[in-house]
Amino acid sequence: MNYIVFDLEWNQCPYGKERECASLPFEIIEIGAVKLNQNMEVEDRFYRVIKPSVYHTLHFRTKRIVGLSTEDLKKGDPFPEAVRAFFAWAGPDAIFCTWGGMDLVELQRNMEYYKILYQLKGPLHFLDVQKLYAIQHETMEKRRALEYAVEKLGLEKEAVFHNALADADYTAQILQTIEQPVIMTYDSIDMYQCPQRKEDEIYAVYNGHTKYISREFESKEAAMQDPEVRSVRCCICGRKCRQKLRWFSVSARNYYCAAVCPEHGYLKGTIRMLHTSGNGFFVMKKIKVTSEQEADLLSEKKRSVRRRRNRRIQGEANEAI
Ligand SMILES: [Zn+2]
Repeated sequence: MNYIVFDLEWNQCPYGKERECASLPFEIIEIGAVKLNQNMEVEDRFYRVIKPSVYHTLHFRTKRIVGLSTEDLKKGDPFPEAVRAFFAWAGPDAIFCTWGGMDLVELQRNMEYYKILYQLKGPLHFLDVQKLYAIQHETMEKRRALEYAVEKLGLEKEAVFHNALADADYTAQILQTIEQPVIMTYDSIDMYQCPQRKEDEIYAVYNGHTKYISREFESKEAAMQDPEVRSVRCCICGRKCRQKLRWFSVSARNYYCAAVCPEHGYLKGTIRMLHTSGNGFFVMKKIKVTSEQEADLLSEKKRSVRRRRNRRIQGEANEAI
């Protein structure tokens, strides 16, 4: 098992959003990675420049932050080749680690564009070093820039930032400051791809909450009718619990519910509805322990959502008259 700490740099359409390629808004131009062994020692490094096939000149912003020229890019490898080399180098039991979750998203979006996404089966468990840094050194909610963390930890700044290998190196050094229990407790799940089959659905247990990631459904309604999606299991003992407040939507993407475990008390359920890359939907459901007051606030919310909705329907009916 190895930790593969990687960083990507990408380019975007130099002529503005209107002329960008919709399926590839960000084209990867650089991959940098550091391999750490189980003891968090550096084993090896990986670096590739990628020859673009969509945006052949650099966006002014990319040019300003990335230390590459259009000429450098011409000498790079085609993306599918570079990615194949990267995975071969990373090995079959790699744990990917990145600063924030965007690099994995863009990696998969680029792979999808080249029709090679099958090489990386999701949903992926990974380590979000930006999150781990916050938990270890600050507070859970904080999200800092890489440069901020490097300065704060007093790491030596020998290389420039926004070079993929330098950033991977800094991220690896920050990962080395995180204690094992934090790493073990706070892994992340990337949801660019949803589970393909019911057997592949994800049930993850964390300290104080659980997460469930469903397979694909053809509509939101179909997802919300699925017994497994609707069910609320206690995040501590796993027993199926009675819902005190049935699932209700607060927006197009978010649903809440409240339930009670006879042993562990009030539970709050949250469902986030996510689009698949096709036209379907899948669900990320979170269950956590909550208080009676919080559950009361939730029922108040349900009432106000319903009032608002009724008023809107009434308004539309009046307009029709
Ligand atoms: Zn329980």
